[in-house]
Amino acid sequence: MSDEGYEMQYVQEAFDTNWIAPLGNNVNKFEQEFCDKIDSQAALALSSGTSAMHLALKADGVGVGDIVFCQSLTFAASVNPVIYQNATPVFIDSDYKTWNMFPEVLEEAFEKYTPKAVIVVHLYGLSADMDRILEICNKYNVSVIEDAAESLGSYYKDKHTGTLGDYGVYSFNGNKIITTSGGGMLVSNKEERIEKARFWASQARDKARHYEHSELGYNYRLSNVLAGIGRGQLKVLDKRVEKKKYIFEYYKKELSDLPGVQFMPINEWNTPNYWLSCMLLTGEVRPLDVIEALEEESIEARPLWKPMHLQPYYKEYDFIGEGVSDELFKNGVCLPSDTKMTDEDLERVIGIIKSLW
Ligand SMILES: *Cc1c(COP(=O)(O)O)cnc(C)c1O
Repeated sequence: MSDEGYEMQYVQEAFDTNWIAPLGNNVNKFEQEFCDKIDSQAALALSSGTSAMHLALKADGVGVGDIVFCQSLTFAASVNPVIYQNATPVFIDSDYKTWNMFPEVLEEAFEKYTPKAVIVVHLYGLSADMDRILEICNKYNVSVIEDAAESLGSYYKDKHTGTLGDYGVYSFNGNKIITTSGGGMLVSNKEERIEKARFWASQARDKARHYEHSELGYNYRLSNVLAGIGRGQLKVLDKRVEKKKYIFEYYKKELSDLPGVQFMPINEWNTPNYWLSCMLLTGEVRPLDVIEALEEESIEARPLWKPMHLQPYYKEYDFIGEGVSDELFKNGVCLPSDTKMTDEDLERVIGIIKSLW
């Protein structure tokens, strides 16, 4: 996944300075460069997006018995940390306009519950309807945690997704737009909360010569070597977004006229990173037909995320909505979207898909 080879330079630096350890110059620089890139006050580099979500909830004071609203259409890592904190998720439906949290349903949910926090996700690099969501959450004085794991490089109006709410969570897992093989970032403009999260992430060691702990800690920091990879990757983010957009527009131009095909929604206030090119199929050709036809040629395509309220583990928790996320799941396909794809690769995928009509 290296485009320019900056990664090796920073990794080498970690070796040269003998910082094959958690923390060190690359970690500090990665946090700083990340803040500069997305225009945030403070950032904390962590071992995963999941650990970033966990510490966001903890920093926000979410604990035993608290209710947390979470978008249902997402990857399980958005909500699992709610359970780590012994809190209770309530799932909120998506809206066709954004594929993300449905503001009207969110309002409805506030009439039924008093949550401690709201987790909104920017799936596939599309941004949620943040003005409306923030307006509702501000009215009830409830914190907003943005799961921007899939949306690094996406803007809502002139702001980076992940910097509009109280906390932003990013992932550098292998499948994301930039990767450190595994890693994450927690950002916030509440610098003191980020410092507190930094303390918890490094085993909650009190300031003492001996090992003293007055709080529960975690081993969640990103290593200095992986942070070096992250610094190199951050430099190629814009180039990746450009290529992802090219891929999306290529598919859209070739496939959007087929009956029953509808591409993911790009709203006027959204400049996406086009992490994955996704479409809905509502005609005779079903998502599974596309997935299987591509699979026969050893090409991977996938359904959209299966909503959390349909997951066996989460079936006992409340869901508020009208089944939009169920429909999106039923009809959606994520197309191959790797930035290494050539025009030839794209033509091949398009040819296989068109042959089904
Ligand atoms: C990848 C992902 C995460 C989790 O990130 P990890 O770094 O894999 O822990 C969380 N939420 C969403 C929406 C994701 O896609």
